[in-house]
Amino acid sequence: MNFYSLNQKAANVSFKDAVIKGIAPDRGLYFPEKITPLAKDFFDKIERLSNIEIAFMAIRQFVQEDIDDEKLKEILTEVLDFDFPLVPITDHIATLELFHGPTLAFKDVGARFMARCLGHFSENNTSEITVLVATSGDTGGAVANGFLGVKGVQVVILYPSGKVSDIQEKQLTTLGKNIIALEVTGTFDDCQKMVKTAFLDEEITKHKQLTSANSINVARWLPQLFYFLFAYKEIKSKGKEIVFSIPSGNFGNICAGMVAQQLGMPVKHFIAATNVNDVVSRFMQTDVYEPQPSVATISNAMDVGDPSNFVRIRHIYNNDIKTLSEYLSSYSFTDEQTKDAMLELYNEYNYIADPHGAIGYLGLKKYQGQNSNTYGIFLETAHPVKFLDIVEDTIKENIEIPEKIFKQMKKKKKSIKISSYDELKEFLLQ
Ligand SMILES: *Cc1c(COP(=O)(O)O)cnc(C)c1O
Repeated sequence: MNFYSLNQKAANVSFKDAVIKGIAPDRGLYFPEKITPLAKDFFDKIERLSNIEIAFMAIRQFVQEDIDDEKLKEILTEVLDFDFPLVPITDHIATLELFHGPTLAFKDVGARFMARCLGHFSENNTSEITVLVATSGDTGGAVANGFLGVKGVQVVILYPSGKVSDIQEKQLTTLGKNIIALEVTGTFDDCQKMVKTAFLDEEITKHKQLTSANSINVARWLPQLFYFLFAYKEIKSKGKEIVFSIPSGNFGNICAGMVAQQLGMPVKHFIAATNVNDVVSRFMQTDVYEPQPSVATISNAMDVGDPSNFVRIRHIYNNDIKTLSEYLSSYSFTDEQTKDAMLELYNEYNYIADPHGAIGYLGLKKYQGQNSNTYGIFLETAHPVKFLDIVEDTIKENIEIPEKIFKQMKKKKKSIKISSYDELKEFLLQ
């Protein structure tokens, strides 16, 4: 399968090259040349398939020429070694918990899949690949963990000093091996800017193969489509039309769900639930796409003012807002509404949601207010313990810290402090 750049000014590349490059030379996002629907039989019999079999059949067409079947199964077996439970909330709402991976973030699946693909592609390489990422919290931990111990790949993570939670900092700084944490005096935007500058700095790229690990990369983006198929498998027998509500920031996860739909999965509608960073819900109303500087909220993994994957979504629906509106609604919610939803979920249904999942729930309720005869699934993208202070303050209850987090909290932090681009450059060139 080849991938082309959505900017249409760069050559088509294989899956392997799309993964190694991350973004096309014309700065466009890569998109699969063709999405062939899976056989009807696959959906008829899906409840008899294991998660690994489902994932294998769903992603195979995209990677086939570069990863043989046996290797692909081996990768998926490692990546998907935890559960994705669908927890009923009411008789027409359930939540799909995506936070049972090693770092309790839904990004674990994409990060682990990408890490193993890159590791596989660099097996016979003599030169190392360097994954360079800026993180405001969640991405970094999932990437660090996913790439830990992968041969031929070095990971350099930049994070803003004092601006990530204790748990998040430990997840970035205690692993060692091929994972290096750079603690930046500054904000997340400063980290991001440094990373972007490095990618364009020929003095660095002449010496080092740099790649990114955000959802722009096809190997991080595409495996997220598995979640939707896993959920479909569980609730197919209910016989109702299915809608998914996805707490969205960069819109990678929801866009992967739309790829699952292109593969033939029956789904009535997608809801992009956001915090007050509402560029997409305004676009859906006005057909004008106007990026904004991001606003800080309590659902901070979604504080994105210009979601990078939205261009892929528009492309899937032929850049036609009418068609897009048939399948996508987007609603935005304030921090106050988010906290109220967390309280409602706790008091009425005894469910502890994190702020991101709570926004997913709000989006679903709003949609179902007008489309009552549907079965709704909202994705819960982070374990509530990752947003401990907000969750405990809101529901006025202590929550239990899972064992794997507890262990990591006791480990010793190791980071290198930097405060300017020159220091990053010096580090990368040494
Ligand atoms: C990254 C993230 C999101 C947003 O996912 P996108 O694919 O960027 O839309 C939502 N919730 C949590 C907890 C996240 O870490």
